[in-house]
Amino acid sequence: MTAIFENYESPWLTEELTMLQDAARKFFTTEMQPHNDAWDEAGVVPLEAWRKAGAAGFLCAEMPVEYGGGGGSYLHETVITEEQLRAGVLGLGNQVHSQIVAPYILNYGSEAQKQRWLPTMATGETVGAIAMTEPDTGSDLQAVRTTAIKDGDDYVINGSKTYISNGQNCGLVIVVAKTDPGLGGKGISLIVVEADTPGFKRGRNLKKLGQHAADTSELFFEDCRVPQANRLGEEEGRGFIQLMQQLPQERLNIAQAAVVEMERALGYTLDFVKERQAFGQRVLDFQNTKFKLAECKTEALIARTFVDQCLIKHVNGELDAATASMAKYWTTQKQCEIVDECLQLHGGAGYMDEYPISRMYKDARVQKIYGGTNEIMKELISRTLDG
Ligand SMILES: Cc1cc2nc3c(=O)[nH]c(=O)nc-3n(C[C@H](O)[C@H](O)[C@H](O)COP(=O)(O)OP(=O)(O)OC[C@H]3O[C@@H](n4cnc5c(N)ncnc54)[C@H](O)[C@@H]3O)c2cc1C
Repeated sequence: MTAIFENYESPWLTEELTMLQDAARKFFTTEMQPHNDAWDEAGVVPLEAWRKAGAAGFLCAEMPVEYGGGGGSYLHETVITEEQLRAGVLGLGNQVHSQIVAPYILNYGSEAQKQRWLPTMATGETVGAIAMTEPDTGSDLQAVRTTAIKDGDDYVINGSKTYISNGQNCGLVIVVAKTDPGLGGKGISLIVVEADTPGFKRGRNLKKLGQHAADTSELFFEDCRVPQANRLGEEEGRGFIQLMQQLPQERLNIAQAAVVEMERALGYTLDFVKERQAFGQRVLDFQNTKFKLAECKTEALIARTFVDQCLIKHVNGELDAATASMAKYWTTQKQCEIVDECLQLHGGAGYMDEYPISRMYKDARVQKIYGGTNEIMKELISRTLDG
């Protein structure tokens, strides 16, 4: 595929990270990419693939070595995400597993919780999920209805969750539940439920527009009893604050994915328009094609530089929620626009599943929805306007 930016290199990309990039590229293109179609068909990535990724060192790269992780930084995670996506391996929910679920346990878990759950997450034996969204509430997280009520040393959890990534494969799920339903957001706690706990049930693996290999599920909790020691955080009622602290990283991660997908779409499209002939010339030679691609390339580079800047801020602990929201909203909006333009330049071929741009179009749409909708991102950004 044609490289897009001849003269731009991310300022954070060190020699060590370039070596990781090469290794990750090789792993995802040889070990995972050939299975993309079969996994799309199955609607899920098999657990062996998770274990393979774990054994190769591509899960939990940021997690300290003492818990079995790679001992790297968020930049290591970034490099792995980029190569996974460049290989079109969208089904493996590694971003949720390594960059969302593991950090909650690492940042808020007790030493015993870390020792118990993190090492098998690093090997891929235990897949992680996080369950916030419910059938009746998504954007309004404070309105979750799932309850976790104390009974002796336990919590008894009741409720249902939906659209949960890794729901079919998960060995543990962080559940957003009300430990004090009378307190609104202040009554929310994060509680880890292991998948073999009685009362935990997986529902359907939901059929969806794109990202077919990524399992997305309903989960049910019926008198599901877990020890109070499964709560993340020493105090009850800290869940909403913990979510607000971690969501900027999730949003940055979605923005990074958007940037990779824009670059990939442009690469495939350049290959196509250089080959395809119409009216006796290459499709690239029409002024419309050149101008459209010039616009897309400019926007993709702006996105890349902005996200690189956010990344550097993030590893320095300086990325604020509003800036992460800007990155998520703007890049995913541009991803959808650019992929649409690129599909158009393919003509009918763009609508055919055998061309990657067709799959990318379907896969892109959810980027504006999950991790907080783009309307919620604008809400968060607008709170900084009048302060
Ligand atoms: C493929 C996929 C994977 C997902 N993975 C997970 C997961 O792993 N874990 C998890 O917990 N969730 C997951 N989700 C859920 C996702 O985060 C929610 O769908 C999303 O946050 C929106 O919530 P909702 O669907 O309830 O929409 P709603 O909140 O009902 O929103 C409906 C519409 O109203 C708009 N709206 C709502 N509130 C406002 C407001 N204040 N101002 C303006 N507009 C507003 C929204 O922007 C949207 O356009 C996933 C979703 C998908 C599609």
